[in-house]
Amino acid sequence: MTTMTDLEAPEARDVRSLADGLDIRTGAWIDGAHVAAASGETFPRVNPATGIEIARVAAGDAPDIDRAVRGARAAFESGVWAHAAPRQRKKVLVRFAGLIEQHADELALLETLDMGKPIRDARRVDVPLAAECIAYYGEAVDKVYDEVAPTDRSAVVMVVREPLGVVGAVVPWNFPLLMASWKLGPALATGNSVVLKPAEQSPLTALRIAELAAEAGLPDGVLQVVPGFGETAGQAIGRHPDVDMIAFTGSTEVGKLFLRYSGESNMKRVALECGGKSPHVVLPDADLDAASKGIAWGVFYNQGEVCNAGSRLLVHHDVKDELLERVAKVAERITPGDPLDPKTRMGAIVDQTQLDRVLGYIESGRSEGATLHLGGSRVLEESGGFFVEPTIFDAVSNEMTIAREEIFGPVLSTIGFAEEDEAIRVANDTMYGLAAAVWTNDVSKAHRYARALRAGIVWVNTYDAGDITSPFGGFKQSGFGRDKSIHALDKFTDLKAIWINVG
Ligand code: NAD
Repeated sequence: MTTMTDLEAPEARDVRSLADGLDIRTGAWIDGAHVAAASGETFPRVNPATGIEIARVAAGDAPDIDRAVRGARAAFESGVWAHAAPRQRKKVLVRFAGLIEQHADELALLETLDMGKPIRDARRVDVPLAAECIAYYGEAVDKVYDEVAPTDRSAVVMVVREPLGVVGAVVPWNFPLLMASWKLGPALATGNSVVLKPAEQSPLTALRIAELAAEAGLPDGVLQVVPGFGETAGQAIGRHPDVDMIAFTGSTEVGKLFLRYSGESNMKRVALECGGKSPHVVLPDADLDAASKGIAWGVFYNQGEVCNAGSRLLVHHDVKDELLERVAKVAERITPGDPLDPKTRMGAIVDQTQLDRVLGYIESGRSEGATLHLGGSRVLEESGGFFVEPTIFDAVSNEMTIAREEIFGPVLSTIGFAEEDEAIRVANDTMYGLAAAVWTNDVSKAHRYARALRAGIVWVNTYDAGDITSPFGGFKQSGFGRDKSIHALDKFTDLKAIWINVG
C-alpha cells in the first residue's frame, strides 16, 4: 500500500507552500463585507487529509439568515440588479467568471483543504467548470426572448419572465464551488438576489467567491453567504417568510425537510437535487475495456462522493467475472493519497462522520452476505486523515442495504443478471432516479434501455460525461427541477401575462 511519504513530489511541495500562505476568509458575507455571526460563535474547519483544524468559520444562525435576507430583499427591491439591463448583468457575470479563473489556484487549494478532494481535480475540474457555468448563464441572459401569446387581434398579450425575488441556495459539500455555481449562475442571471448557505463541511470557497463577485461589480446585498449548520442556518432559510425560493442540492432526507419548511411557512418554491443509487447495465456484447474504465471512474471519482455515482453494477452473468477483474485492475490504480499531491487521483473522505458511515456500509455488505472482491478498509490512518480504499462487492442482491441506500463513498455493489428484462426491472427498483448507464454495441438495445431506465440522465457506452449544455437532475426521489443548461433559467423566474386591450 502506498503511504503519504511515497507520494511526495517537488510539485507537491510547491502546492504545500502555496497552501501555507493562504488567507482564509471566515466571516459570513453580508451586504458587501465579511462579518462575524451575531452570536459570535464559530465552528472549526478540519482538513480531511490530516485531521488538523485549518480555520474557524462564523456559525450563522437564524438572526444572521434574517439579516442576510433583509439585505437581499432591499437589494432586490431597489432594482439595482433585478432591473439592470440583461447585457449589464451579463457583463458583471462574465467578469465574475473571469475572476474565478484568475484565482483558480487559490480556489482549488481552498476546496482541497476544506473537503479533501485531489488538487488535480479541484484545479482541472471544479474551478474551471464553476467559471464556465457562471459565464454560460451570463452569456445566455441577453439571448432569451419572452413571448407574445397568439390571441385574437383585440389584445396584445405578452408573456414575460420575472425574477422570483430572494432565492435561498443550500448546497452540499461534495462539489462545494460547482454546486454553488449551478445555483448562482441562473439565479443571478435572471435578476434574483441570493442567500447562499454552503455546507458546514466546506464553506471556504463560497466565502471567497462572494468577494470576487463584488469585485466583478455585483451590487452589495445581491449575493449573501451565510455559513452555518443545517439544523440552524439551513432550517432558518427554509422557514424564512421572505425567501421566495429554495434551490437545494443535498440528500433526499433533507430535501423532504425543505418541502415541509415551505408548507409550514410561506409556500416558497422548492427545487430539489437529491441523492441517487445509479445503475450500470452491462450487456454481454459490451466493450468491456471501455465499460471497466467507465464503471471504476464512475464510482471512485471524488472518493465516491458523487450524487450520480454509478454505485450499482448490473452485469450479465456471461461477462461478470471478466468485467469485475477489469474493473478491479482500473480501481487498483485509483489509490487514495495526499490530496495536495498533484499525482493523487483519490483524496480523503470529507470527515469522521462520513468515514464512519462508509465503513458502516462496508460492514453491512459483509454481514448481509455480499462477497468482498476488492478493498474494504480504511487506509493511511497514520496521516490523521479519513481515507477509504476503492471497494468492490460481488454477489450483491438488490435487497441488500448496500444496493438500496446511497453510500456516498467508494463502494461498488455488483449484481449479476441472466435476462435482459430482469436487468431493467432491477435497475429501476430503487427510490432514486438520478442517472443510469447501459453498455452495449447494439444500437437498438441501447435505445430501448435508454428509454426504459427511469433516470434524469442515461449514458450509453460512457459514464458521467456532460457539459453545461446538458440538463441535470432527477426522477423520483432524486428530486425535481433541473440544474445546468438553458432549462435551469426556468425555475428562477415566474411567468407573468400582461394583457393589453387594443380592440
Ligand atoms: P445534506 O442533505 O446533509 O446537506 C445538504 C445541505 O443541507 C447542507 O448545506 C446542510 O447544511 C443542509 N442541511 C442539512 N440538514 C438540514 C436541515 N435539517 N435543515 C436545513 N438544511 C439542512 O447533504 P450532504 O451530506 O451535504 O451532501 C450529500 C448529498 O447531496 C447526497 O445525498 C448527494 O447525492 C446529494 N447531492 C446531489 C446532487 C444532485 O445534483 N442531485 C449533487 C451533489 C450532491
